[in-house]
Amino acid sequence: GRNFSNVTTIDSNDSDKLLGGLLATGFDEHSCLSRYQSSLYRKPSPYKPSPYLLSKLRSYETLHKRCGPGTEPYKKALNQLDQEHIDDDSNGECKYVVWVSFSGLGNRILSLASVFLYALLTDRVLLVDRGKDMDDLFCEPFPEMSWLLPLDFTMTDQFDKLNQESPRCYGYMLKNQVVNTENTLSHLYLHLVHDYGDEDKMFFCQEDQDFIKKVPWLIVKTDNYFVPSLWLIPGFDDELNKLFPEKETVFHHLGRYLFHPRNQVWGLVTRYYEAYLSNADEKIGIQVRVFDVGAGPFQHVMDQISACTRKEKLLPEVDTTLVEERSHKVRGFKHKAVLVTSLSSGYSENLKSMYWEYPTSTGEIIGVHQPSQEGYQQTEKKMHNGKALAEMYLLSMTDSLVTSAWSTFGYVAQGLGGLKPWILYKPENRTAPDPACVRAMSMEPCFHAPPFYDCKAKTGIDTGKLVPHVTHCEDMSWGLKVV
Ligand code: GDP
Repeated sequence: GRNFSNVTTIDSNDSDKLLGGLLATGFDEHSCLSRYQSSLYRKPSPYKPSPYLLSKLRSYETLHKRCGPGTEPYKKALNQLDQEHIDDDSNGECKYVVWVSFSGLGNRILSLASVFLYALLTDRVLLVDRGKDMDDLFCEPFPEMSWLLPLDFTMTDQFDKLNQESPRCYGYMLKNQVVNTENTLSHLYLHLVHDYGDEDKMFFCQEDQDFIKKVPWLIVKTDNYFVPSLWLIPGFDDELNKLFPEKETVFHHLGRYLFHPRNQVWGLVTRYYEAYLSNADEKIGIQVRVFDVGAGPFQHVMDQISACTRKEKLLPEVDTTLVEERSHKVRGFKHKAVLVTSLSSGYSENLKSMYWEYPTSTGEIIGVHQPSQEGYQQTEKKMHNGKALAEMYLLSMTDSLVTSAWSTFGYVAQGLGGLKPWILYKPENRTAPDPACVRAMSMEPCFHAPPFYDCKAKTGIDTGKLVPHVTHCEDMSWGLKVV
């Protein structure tokens, strides 16, 4: 193992400290320890960001600094926002996309990464609505200029009410045929929430992008990882190919670039890691997310976890037939640490007792650990989300990962970790599915609510069959993912 005792004074020449050039230099290290320390807790990523992505990020950082809150271009753009339309000669130099804080933490991380990619593709400045706790959870990702939407932004108090019926909702305007291509609007609301309608989905058409492009302010509400459908827009796919020659690395790189836990959360991560994981020869993560109603633990889920980890040889079997302990070596066995995350404590307690009560058939020593058991989802509580973020991070530091179908919590962990997880299929009728799990094709998250529309032919189409690198997800037949 590595020596972590000097963790705060890491050698600044550490080649992976900047994640292959992904991170900019020049941040104050102490104000955000995770930014430059996370590389110490993970194996170096086998996926290197492309030089083109690196140059795009550096030029984005310049743009962000030039146009960010408080700058002259920002003030000019705010003035435009006061008007209904903008005249073409007043068209300012900076355009913005505002991400509205919405939904569970996993969903928020994925949707924010998607909106950031959209900002990169369209030369917009990303501003983040802090919601209840975004600023408590994450450090600033861009040098010298905040990504947070200023608290006095006039529209903030309307964010909660924005929906498919809002007058400036793009889908609503299409539906009611009030889109006027002669006048450029000062702002548009893009409703990309999972319940969105056919008109809202026109966002993913090239022609609509050509219209949206001119609008200086976009307000986006989404709970989805919509990156897969961006690859299907003709105006974006060349650029995406250049940015991500290894296609399945979009969230892996953007997630590592954007999401640095604040020091308090980083304390949760590192203390737990050092106490329970750092000395193990191998670390296995098991993320259990049960969408069934009723309080767990459920026997069928337990059975599924056992079946998957046994079949895929992630965990050894126990020998329940031994009456008397064989004499055995006391030291020298491989030590595997199992990190279980779940709202319920039952699954890890069960595994823990099993590996205490019986020896493993391989002689391996299995330690089972679960950081928190919050009982139920408490999205508005601060430390609750801090723990959730710490657990996603800890899962991303494991060597092998088992995740639950449909869970964005698991997608975040796999993406940050660069891991192709084994996905536990979603149980139906409270029965363990057979097979219990499937190996993911790629480490990318799944887009749960993609459009199925051919913008040119103006008819329905299976968007999972258009190009080889955008296909249906393992865990959701109608979802789309990049592979
Ligand atoms: P998803 O619902 O699984 O897609 O993930 P989200 O992160 O969007 O929403 C689930 C929320 O429930 C998380 O943000 C946490 O607040 C909570 N949650 C679910 N599973 C866990 C867990 O294993 N540990 C902790 N600490 N919180 C969890």
